Amino acid sequence: MDTERIDGTIHTDITPYSEFRNHLDQEVSIKGAIHNIRDMSDFAFVLVRTAREVIQCVYSPEFSEYRMGPEVKEQCSAKVTGKVVKSETRDGSERYELQIHNIEILSTPVDIMPVVISKKKVMADLAVNLDNRPVTLRNPSERAIFKIQEGIQRGFREYLTSQGFTEIHTPKINFAGAEGGTTVFRLDYFGKTVFLAQSPQLYKQTLVPVFERVFEIGPVFRAEKHDTSRHLNEYVSMDFEMGFIDSFTDIMNMETGVLKNIMELLKKEYAPEIEILHADIPQIDSIPAIRFKDAKALTMKKLKGITDMHDFDPSEEEFLGKWAKKEYGSDFLFVTHYPSSDRPFYTMDDPEDPEYTLSFDLIFRGVEITSGGQRIHDYNEQVAKMQRLGMNPEEFTTYLMLHKYGAPPHGGLGLGLERLTMHLLGFKNVRYASMFPRDINRVTP
Ligand code: ATP
Ligand code: MG
Repeated sequence: MDTERIDGTIHTDITPYSEFRNHLDQEVSIKGAIHNIRDMSDFAFVLVRTAREVIQCVYSPEFSEYRMGPEVKEQCSAKVTGKVVKSETRDGSERYELQIHNIEILSTPVDIMPVVISKKKVMADLAVNLDNRPVTLRNPSERAIFKIQEGIQRGFREYLTSQGFTEIHTPKINFAGAEGGTTVFRLDYFGKTVFLAQSPQLYKQTLVPVFERVFEIGPVFRAEKHDTSRHLNEYVSMDFEMGFIDSFTDIMNMETGVLKNIMELLKKEYAPEIEILHADIPQIDSIPAIRFKDAKALTMKKLKGITDMHDFDPSEEEFLGKWAKKEYGSDFLFVTHYPSSDRPFYTMDDPEDPEYTLSFDLIFRGVEITSGGQRIHDYNEQVAKMQRLGMNPEEFTTYLMLHKYGAPPHGGLGLGLERLTMHLLGFKNVRYASMFPRDINRVTP
């Protein structure tokens, strides 16, 4: 009997675009989708969409015996072989193209595209774009958004790993929500009512006495009943929680380090996508911090019709974003010491003024992207706060084991991936920053 041995080696006859410069005037092959064909009568440009680049190939009967026929059409998967040559660019930058020697068709679509994706951008309104996500995501600009999003997650993960954090995954089907309020999804669980996780809060705290520092990148669910440009019903939350903090400013410092690392990584390794999207990647040296009370005084002075004294509405956040830019040249602003009434039950009150908390939000270009703070670690204090808020501590017995059996002073935060992506790339709607958004009117595709 013949057996094969699988040793993990990937054999390939494909040359990635990044290697083209080492193969000048040589024949190489690439695989990808035929993205666009531009017929110029005696020759044709054939753009091939590979994993990250769109590579310009040129067909002309002069280059070889090969004759391109009607079987070569947009969205075919193909193996294209040809000679690497330098292409002329207007800005003098280094680009390479292929002079086609052969095209081998690997698969053929059976229908024409419902939306044109071969232009620089998808020329369709948001609803059509989202309805046709399986194909619109193939557009290089759309794809670049999610490549940048990958970079954000990598920057978060790599920095925290370097700081001694352990990556965790917490359950999404839970006995209780975590953030309270009305935005919790109920689920029938074999006849019992359970909830989809609104955040990994209770579990990430539980893991602090185990690992001291933990982080998670995972989905969370919010039954937002309104249709806004900044809320999704399922989003990706980047969370961390750290033990043995001296103050909640340790968390803000850690977040500043995370964000610096994200922006540096994007500039270093995501230049093609930054260029496609004309993204304005902020330079972060330090981030200014202002107390909630003082920020409220500022918005009250400048804006009319402010009624909520315990939180900011979107117009106030926008104002504070502009203020930070003007006063400090910063795209980011920490607002600290939120009122106790606005923060969840696990938040530590400020011992110097218990109407306020040891908590913060981070505002980026005028929108909240993070909430964080110090948590209560003392058992009696946590039980008392729950009772004060009308909660029944007995429903939280397993969560309270954390406090009952000893937890260090700790705190952490949650950073919304789509919110950060949205404002980094200057989108007006968070749905552009989600591959398959779920909102009050959409659960497909
Ligand atoms: P908001 O006030 O904007 O509704 P929140 O204060 O209810 O947000 P948190 O519970 O503080 O949200 O969640 C932490 C972070 O998660 C937010 O700062 C934001 O980046 C993100 N986030 C929260 N809700 C959503 C949502 N529905 N869709 C997308 N991102 C969200
Ligand atoms: Mg918040």
